[in-house]
Amino acid sequence: MLDVPRDADADTIKKAYRRLARQLHPDVNPDPATQDRFKEVSAAYEVLSDPQKRAAYDRGGDPFGGFGGGAGAQGQGFSFTDIMDAFFGGQGGAAGGGRGPKSRTRRGQDALIRLDVDLAEAAFGASRELKVDTAVVCSTCHGDGAAPGSRPVPCETCRGAGEVAHVQRSFLGEVRTLRPCAACRGFGTIIPDPCRECAGDGRVRSRRTLTIKVPAGVDTGTRVQLSEQGEVGPGGGPPGDLYVEVQVADHPVFTRHGNDLHCAVTVPMTAAALGTTLTLPTLEADVEQGADSGVETSFELDIEAGTQSGASRTLRGRGVPGLRGGRGDLVVNVAVETPGRLDPRQEELLRELAALRGEESPTGQVKAASRSVFGRLFGH
Ligand SMILES: [Zn+2]
Ligand SMILES: [Zn+2]
Repeated sequence: MLDVPRDADADTIKKAYRRLARQLHPDVNPDPATQDRFKEVSAAYEVLSDPQKRAAYDRGGDPFGGFGGGAGAQGQGFSFTDIMDAFFGGQGGAAGGGRGPKSRTRRGQDALIRLDVDLAEAAFGASRELKVDTAVVCSTCHGDGAAPGSRPVPCETCRGAGEVAHVQRSFLGEVRTLRPCAACRGFGTIIPDPCRECAGDGRVRSRRTLTIKVPAGVDTGTRVQLSEQGEVGPGGGPPGDLYVEVQVADHPVFTRHGNDLHCAVTVPMTAAALGTTLTLPTLEADVEQGADSGVETSFELDIEAGTQSGASRTLRGRGVPGLRGGRGDLVVNVAVETPGRLDPRQEELLRELAALRGEESPTGQVKAASRSVFGRLFGH
């Protein structure tokens, strides 16, 4: 418009305007086309010479203030946005940004709820019904907050702009600032007859029952995202998301370490020495299965002859399925139980065994304490 670079300083702008004004001024050149051009140039200078208006323009807003993009209302009889469109490829007021009344409609907040599941549900997935309390769109006013038969009306204080100018005189000159309009709280409209159901908020709280699919492999702290099931926004704005945070209850047998499961079995000293076969439950046994489902509810574990207390056995693929596929292991820690309270016959047999093994007066092997045995035993 003024034929100056985008980042021109105040002095350059002033000089450019004076040069153009000399050519276009009505006293010099009264024809209508030239006068339109003079109005445009003057308007452009008005914006660029005023730091606040220039800042608004630089931000992409409408420097004539407050009517939102496209409205372009001001007194010169032409639209400021048209000038900007013509000279800056539609990036002026047409972008619709900047200041002006704020919308009553906003996106709702995300919501977070906790869901307690047992270990088998976490491992194999589950479908659960959950009651959630969130804001939903008010069915009486459909979100606009106005009682049926009424409508929001433009605010008279700010004439719909949502903001009002405050002018202060100081020794530096007039300082003009825009503040949100107190009468309409910046919305630019007033709801004269608020909806009685939602008190004008456009939304009400409601309890719903949702069916939540818990994917296999979740752990404590895993969040399942349910898009747009969160709080509806003010003014009937789009809902946020609902996050369901999983909390896995402790299991009486299995302790979870990532996708591995740990458990401990105790075997008598004689069984550890001679070897045996144990029947252990699977985690699948916790899930109700049909009789012919083919799901293993138990499995056999061979304890080899000579198994030591603290030994552990790792059973591949008997742990928890991973969220991204694969499956963890089951680690079985073996504790050997020493018999107590021997009757005379048992004691006699053990003494005979000790004599046969030359263990009547053992010295004991002293070595560094093994944290690993302790750790394995207790699953730390
Ligand atoms: Zn309502
Ligand atoms: Zn207002």
